[in-house]
Amino acid sequence: MYPGKMNKTKSTRRNVIFSFDYELYLGAKSGSTDNCVLKPVSELIRILGRYKVRAVFFIDTTWLIKLKEISSRSKKAETDFYNVVSQIRELVKAGHYLFPHLHPHWLNACYLEDVNQWRLTDYSKYHFHSLNMEEREFLFSSSVAILNEIIVPIQPDYRPTGYRAGGWSIEPFSDFEPFFRKYGIINDFSKIENCTPYPFSGNLMKDNRGEFAEFPISKVKLPIINEYLNRLLLKYLWIMNDRGTGDGKGAPEGKYQSNKLQGNNETNMQQGEMAAIELLTRAKLHAYLKYLKSNPYMQFIAHPKMLSRHNLNVFQLWMNSAFHRFDIETDFMKMLNVG
Ligand SMILES: [Zn+2]
Repeated sequence: MYPGKMNKTKSTRRNVIFSFDYELYLGAKSGSTDNCVLKPVSELIRILGRYKVRAVFFIDTTWLIKLKEISSRSKKAETDFYNVVSQIRELVKAGHYLFPHLHPHWLNACYLEDVNQWRLTDYSKYHFHSLNMEEREFLFSSSVAILNEIIVPIQPDYRPTGYRAGGWSIEPFSDFEPFFRKYGIINDFSKIENCTPYPFSGNLMKDNRGEFAEFPISKVKLPIINEYLNRLLLKYLWIMNDRGTGDGKGAPEGKYQSNKLQGNNETNMQQGEMAAIELLTRAKLHAYLKYLKSNPYMQFIAHPKMLSRHNLNVFQLWMNSAFHRFDIETDFMKMLNVG
């Protein structure tokens, strides 16, 4: 129990989803499984456990399908696959939700045996929309199959009921809808907008009779002075070599990736940035806490591969303050209609 929790009233009730993309880098160099996934995720498991958070992990199943395939001829890949399976099972045992996350250009990934990493520079299948029906079916069926294979032995009633689209591109939803129906996926976590979770039907628009539910990722707006302080702080952290643990290279921004919601650019100053642990610095702590104070719901995301020591330290400050001041629900299943 956190200090002060006994005295909290209904007005201190908040709903916060913590969601994480369990994946490597998606460009010229994937980075290593150890540095991009295993190490930062075990750090997160520790922090989340301390606050009894029930988080959501989006597993890049397109990576796991390839990793499993190559395991039969590479000892190092076999070890990586074994370690990933063990860590996913640890996440399940800790009570977290695990759902598929697809980056379709893994279909054209090239394994670099000497460094036990991948090159993902063929972006022709980056968008789900560019795949033909057989490829779409293959990706969904094998994603669900590999999650079942890993999780069902320790959680027999496991169902992959949630989804986050790679690059957050869930539109047009008509591309996904048949697979959501076929595989029993009803919860989407791909949209970035400031509102509480809502039911939707085929067009992603709010619909109280809709059979799907959207759990949006929140956007935090920063005072301009904090934006400038943040830039200075990032320069300092860069010089001090306090960077993310991940050792890979992402897909180029702009052409394939939307960079408008990443930190540190002009658009953010007007619209706010996606609430993300890898963007959270000491200069933003107050704004991120203020967001929670003013809103009944928040979704915080993170890409473990991008987390620096500074990010994790400030995240713990945020958690200490948030759990001290508010009575926080973290189980997304209890959040529909919280607004
Ligand atoms: Zn991703």
